[in-house]
Amino acid sequence: MSGRDEYFMRLALEQAKLARDHGDFPFGAVMTWRGELLVECENGESQQADVTAHAEMIAIRAACLKLARRDLSDCEIFSSTEPCPMCSAAIFQSNVKRVVFGLYRDDLPHIFRRRRIRIAELATDWDYKPEVIGGVLRDEAKPPFEGLKLPLRVVPHYHKSI
Ligand SMILES: [Zn+2]
Repeated sequence: MSGRDEYFMRLALEQAKLARDHGDFPFGAVMTWRGELLVECENGESQQADVTAHAEMIAIRAACLKLARRDLSDCEIFSSTEPCPMCSAAIFQSNVKRVVFGLYRDDLPHIFRRRRIRIAELATDWDYKPEVIGGVLRDEAKPPFEGLKLPLRVVPHYHKSI
């Protein structure tokens, strides 16, 4: 763990807090390009009514758009929590070279689904394997989850028929 990793992780944690302020689960991600900050993204699942709008997915899309290409092999992603299988696949698909995360899945409160398969294991199924580092600023990543009592599936207020 380096001071540099901690610097970018703090930015991801700020995005996680923003997501919570905006009514979403507290997840955030930032992407660097050639060592410099490229995009900062918060989880937008509820805000966008899109189950795929995890912070990492939004960060990958935004980074591809900014760089105008689908290859992110000169990028790193800093995620406030260990990426889920969906985001992990997108990370591998885009060739992100390095993945740094704060909390491990098992650190999350019980309202989140448990997963046995970790990003590091998923990476073994891909030819392109990013470096994966977990547990960066783990203690600082926990507070946004304190007191969180949201149901497993949050229905956006504008889905009136449910
Ligand atoms: Zn995800």
